[in-house]
Amino acid sequence: MRAYERLIKYARIYTTSDSTSETCPSTERQLALAGLLAEEMKEIGIIDAKVDEYGYVYGTVPATPGLESRNSLGFIAHMDTSEAAPGDNVKPIIHENYSGDDIVLGGGTVIKTATFPFLKDMVGETVVTSDGTTLLGADDKAGIAEILTACEIIISSNIPHGKLCIGFTPDEEIGRGADKFNIEGFGADFAYTVDGGDAGEIEYENFNAASASIKIKGFSVHPGDAKDKMVNAINVGIEFQNSLPYFERPEHTEGREGFYHLDEIKGDISNLEMYYILRDHDLSKLEEKKDTMRHTAKRLNEKYGEGTVTVELRDNYRNMIEKIRPHFHLIETARKAVRLAGLEPKELPVRGGTDGAVLSWKGLPCPNLGVGGFNFHGCAELASAERMDKATEIIVNIVKLYAE
Ligand SMILES: [Zn+2]
Repeated sequence: MRAYERLIKYARIYTTSDSTSETCPSTERQLALAGLLAEEMKEIGIIDAKVDEYGYVYGTVPATPGLESRNSLGFIAHMDTSEAAPGDNVKPIIHENYSGDDIVLGGGTVIKTATFPFLKDMVGETVVTSDGTTLLGADDKAGIAEILTACEIIISSNIPHGKLCIGFTPDEEIGRGADKFNIEGFGADFAYTVDGGDAGEIEYENFNAASASIKIKGFSVHPGDAKDKMVNAINVGIEFQNSLPYFERPEHTEGREGFYHLDEIKGDISNLEMYYILRDHDLSKLEEKKDTMRHTAKRLNEKYGEGTVTVELRDNYRNMIEKIRPHFHLIETARKAVRLAGLEPKELPVRGGTDGAVLSWKGLPCPNLGVGGFNFHGCAELASAERMDKATEIIVNIVKLYAE
């Protein structure tokens, strides 16, 4: 079976996660895909496949006799889809021999080549989309499809390999995919997540992340008598925001440039709350951003009185690069595997976090491989069958290279 055929099967199963839920998995419906995957794993020879109490799917392919001493290698993908677009009743559409024109779907969705110029490079490929009213779910069902197709090829063709560990997680899209991941039970020395991006992409840098909660206490007086008395918390909040570097906002930064992002603001003259996220690939620059927030609060308190502005800073996640560097063979092997598949490796710093980053800091070094999918989290999402084949081939090549 080709990877895109598996994608089409999984895409029809409703697995949207729910950030408001307190349970794990966040939605019962993800268990339907988990059960199906465990069954399918058994069919292709991963006989110990199982779903655990939290909805995680695990299975292993024992090493080829004689190769038991090789490192055990993991591959991880996630089963849930984003809340950002409808994920129920997904009806995948196959566009064979894609013409290079705008793709007109239902629900008023048009995937325009003017908006997505990479479509021009996909002429002649087999493009898979939804019917336009939902997302497709190639993020990350394409990753699951490729891992299982690679396993099927390795097992049925008797390709020599060390121990392989397969893991499928719920709730990645709501940032909890790594929370209940059983690293010990998984049994891998290191792993790759297969999630997002084009085939041939290798990702091993992500943001360091912190958040800041700012509370501002104002002093309300009737506006008619306010002279030299009123402290308007809203105006102090505006002053706070304007004191931060203007061009270090998400809308003015790219690549490895970090930012201050005012994500939420609520309140009135008396009380104002502002919520920021701070991001930087460079940890020392993230620390500088945290210092700038503290310094700004200090200056405003000198101006308006102690206790006017309070800042609460919290660290969220860290750049995985520090944990990948000691295992850089993971990247070198992936580069080789990509070239063996006839592609040129593409390496970009992720402007966000990944489950792989959390796993790397928990002790399982875990860079990411691209899947051959695009436009995630929306109704214009698509995947290419040929690029999914390449992504599958890259996984098989990595397994072969670690068995050499
Ligand atoms: Zn994903």
